[in-house]
Amino acid sequence: MQIDTSISTTVAGIHKLVIPTPFAVGPVNVYIVEGEAVTLFDVGPKTEEAWDSFTSQLKQVGFSLNDIDQVILTHHHVDHCGLLDILLEKRDIPVFGHPLGVPWVEQNDEFLRWHRNYFTEFYLKMGVEKGLLADTDRYYQMLDRLSCRVRLSNTLREGDQIPGMEGWKVYETPGHAQSHLVFHRESDGVLLGGDHIIKHISSNAILESPLRRGEERPKTLLQYRESLLRCKHLDVTIVFSGHGDEVHDMQALIDRRIQEQEVRAQKIRGWLVHEPLTPYQICQRMFPGVYQKELALTMSEVIGYLDLLIEQDRITEEQSGGLFRYKAL
Ligand SMILES: [Zn+2]
Repeated sequence: MQIDTSISTTVAGIHKLVIPTPFAVGPVNVYIVEGEAVTLFDVGPKTEEAWDSFTSQLKQVGFSLNDIDQVILTHHHVDHCGLLDILLEKRDIPVFGHPLGVPWVEQNDEFLRWHRNYFTEFYLKMGVEKGLLADTDRYYQMLDRLSCRVRLSNTLREGDQIPGMEGWKVYETPGHAQSHLVFHRESDGVLLGGDHIIKHISSNAILESPLRRGEERPKTLLQYRESLLRCKHLDVTIVFSGHGDEVHDMQALIDRRIQEQEVRAQKIRGWLVHEPLTPYQICQRMFPGVYQKELALTMSEVIGYLDLLIEQDRITEEQSGGLFRYKAL
């Protein structure tokens, strides 16, 4: 894959570094933002290749490791935070992120065990074949290899002030990740959008377990849509995203994403008119050839559309023998 290492000069004081990842999504964008403090937004996955790429691009944009005052995470996914393990070995600097990202960036063993058990149980109820569940082990092994084990020095919530970043506002945008934040500079309409808004692909509203036993799981696609609509009201001239190119027409892109979700949900509902199906059966039909390899992502898509259709009173859920099936209303 050709990696675009061109450095963005569209907005003075914001430098885009394009860091390779071993994931299908391709490279991740991280940003150096100059202000009173020099802030690094996201870092990349924990690979040698990512580190080499990061340090050489940092030099190209005129900075050294010693210039970075602080790191802010848009969300806890490994392609955005893993490299913290290496960076913090060289530089002891504060790291900010949403409190819901804490157990992930720490790789809190108890939390990960709970997450894993929750999904084993959940997927079986959704009709997933037992044989496929063993593959989710690979996911936790990947976390161990490519993610970090660090403590956030500061947590950030909506409305908090970031030291050294006067004029920037923090917004909570759960959906793609429960810990997702975006950062808006009102004076010129710059939005650091993380994976909330991406130009070339629709962002997956990835399922996460509830924080504690007995709580309801977050309805991630519904959250994602609400977060998109909230951003639509911000005055945004350019979005610097976690992957791919900058977005100049955010409002139109948000409308398109909302529309695409409706179309896909409608397609699923069409199937459910003929027969009740489990989420897994829908997943197999919707993503043939992909679902085995990308079980979590494809099941997240399907369950998201089912949550949406239920909320719109267009389908209903039935339960028998521990299995969930859905049918059209
Ligand atoms: Zn992500």
